[in-house]
Amino acid sequence: APVIGVLALQGDVREHLVALAAADAVARPVRRPEELAEADGLVIPGGESTTISKLTVLFGLMEPLRARVRAGMPVYGTCAGMIMLADKILDPRSGQETVGGIDMIVRRNAFGRQNESFEAAVEVKGISGDPVEGVFIRAPWVESVGASAEVLAEHGGHIVAVRQGNALATSFHPELTGDHRVHRLFTDMVRASRRGESL
Ligand code: GLN
Repeated sequence: APVIGVLALQGDVREHLVALAAADAVARPVRRPEELAEADGLVIPGGESTTISKLTVLFGLMEPLRARVRAGMPVYGTCAGMIMLADKILDPRSGQETVGGIDMIVRRNAFGRQNESFEAAVEVKGISGDPVEGVFIRAPWVESVGASAEVLAEHGGHIVAVRQGNALATSFHPELTGDHRVHRLFTDMVRASRRGESL
């Protein structure tokens, strides 16, 4: 089974570890560069993106992470994790850096102004069957994507799921539901990447 790390500096790490294990991955927390090096793929959880950004720098993980993502390591970011994968943040806080990897501009707390938190059924390209139950918690949306990024889902006219190569991002939190289809999609991407294919 593929080894999938969860960036474990802040945020809902445990929920992702559980969801990845349910999707038949070997799930491990990642706090050190050596742990990142052992992972075939990485999840960046939801939480607070400025905090995650600063801790990533502090723990010496920003540059190794950028290098792995540039080299094609599969990576999946939810909510704050989506922000970390954006090449550009519309309204960054001071000192807030991203890993990048997806040619998109995100707006932080975009849904939060009206609703702190809500759930909605979301049709996600590549996930068959019922729509995914999207849990949005002070969620970002994607203002725009570049030509190489593919929009996988929208909600209320806003982009909420994007993929570019081996990088996947959702505004919402599948790890908080019992539905592991998005984690299974990601695990399949990691398996394909280990075989030298892309899914
Ligand atoms: N609003 C948070 C941020 O800007 C993200 C919220 C979340 O991850 N649930 O980082």
